[in-house]
Amino acid sequence: MSLPPLVEPAAELTVEEVRRYSRHLIIPDVGMDGQKRLKNAKVLCVGAGGLGSPALMYMAAAGVGTLGIIEFDTVDESNLQRQIIHGQSDIGRFKAQSARDSVKEINPLVEVVLHEERLDNDNVMEIFSGYDLIVDGTDNFATRYLVNDAAVLLGKPYVWGSIYRFDGQASVFWAEHGPCYRCLYPEAPPPGMVPSCAEGGVLGVLCASIGSIQVNEAIKLLAGIGEPLVGRLMIYDALEMQYRSVKVRKDPNCALCGENPTVTGLIDYESFCGVVSEEASAAAAGSTITSKQLKEWIDNGEPIDIIDVREINEYEIVSIPGARLIPKNEFLMGNALQDLPQDKRIVLHCKTGVRSAEVLAVLKSAGFADAVHLGGGVIGWVNQIEPEKPVY
Ligand SMILES: [Zn+2]
Repeated sequence: MSLPPLVEPAAELTVEEVRRYSRHLIIPDVGMDGQKRLKNAKVLCVGAGGLGSPALMYMAAAGVGTLGIIEFDTVDESNLQRQIIHGQSDIGRFKAQSARDSVKEINPLVEVVLHEERLDNDNVMEIFSGYDLIVDGTDNFATRYLVNDAAVLLGKPYVWGSIYRFDGQASVFWAEHGPCYRCLYPEAPPPGMVPSCAEGGVLGVLCASIGSIQVNEAIKLLAGIGEPLVGRLMIYDALEMQYRSVKVRKDPNCALCGENPTVTGLIDYESFCGVVSEEASAAAAGSTITSKQLKEWIDNGEPIDIIDVREINEYEIVSIPGARLIPKNEFLMGNALQDLPQDKRIVLHCKTGVRSAEVLAVLKSAGFADAVHLGGGVIGWVNQIEPEKPVY
């Protein structure tokens, strides 16, 4: 299925533009007409992180006339392993500004519009309506559903991508011509089931593999060339080095773009996706301790057993003194419970306190009534108690 171009061509290219884009202009399918369409295009990139970095850089180089960047975060050292639009001297700067400077360095002809705020229900419709196309580089489910729903409600296409460890996915969602994200994933995964990149890691170069697919699709949609990834899901396995594409059909029962939609406006995405499960937040209520409290217990020689529920790789990067490792899954599968001491209070911790809250719920229902977990996890511990240790 080929689709008409999203954008009308600009009146003309300047001499400078003809020189700059000559390798595009001599491709028959792009040519002068395609390049003029790119010049006229307004594309919004949601996030200037792992996917946003290569996406923004290649769209800038390709001559997309206006690039919007929505991003509220600042550059952290741990971003630089994959977020190549930022550099060492950008640490601590706002990502949106750092990204703008890189875009301008690559191509000063691009107009950059910054939206230095968190995308939410109050601003999404107004921001999206100023653009022809959205490139989604978000890393959490709540924002992903927000992007999808706003795009569908506004009748706009968007290019979606996601990355985790060695696995990537990409697609183009455009309800007018094919499925939306909800047709593919009607429900957000249960909280704690799908770890974020911060919890589970991501191979840096995977961002380039998926981000470049997103730009490729953006260019095709803007210029109206080729077969867009509408109704198809691209699945990339970097370890096996395999790309597969599977058909995704529009779901007639889709809550948003189906025949009898039940979602007719923006919803509460945080609660739709549930940051932590109800069981976990119930277990954590009144059973969450601070890093200072844990430090006191350790210093006073209190009878406690500190259990780190992360994975071995994470444990090797940084750990709390005296903590022993029993990964979360050992608890979920029921293997770890019989080895727990009955005469010591159990203190669970993970990276930030999400996984440990899930395990706490398991322990509480198994009768460990006085078990607690560390709010903020090892990251909070390092920040408050051992700032010389690395965080990740
Ligand atoms: Zn749908």
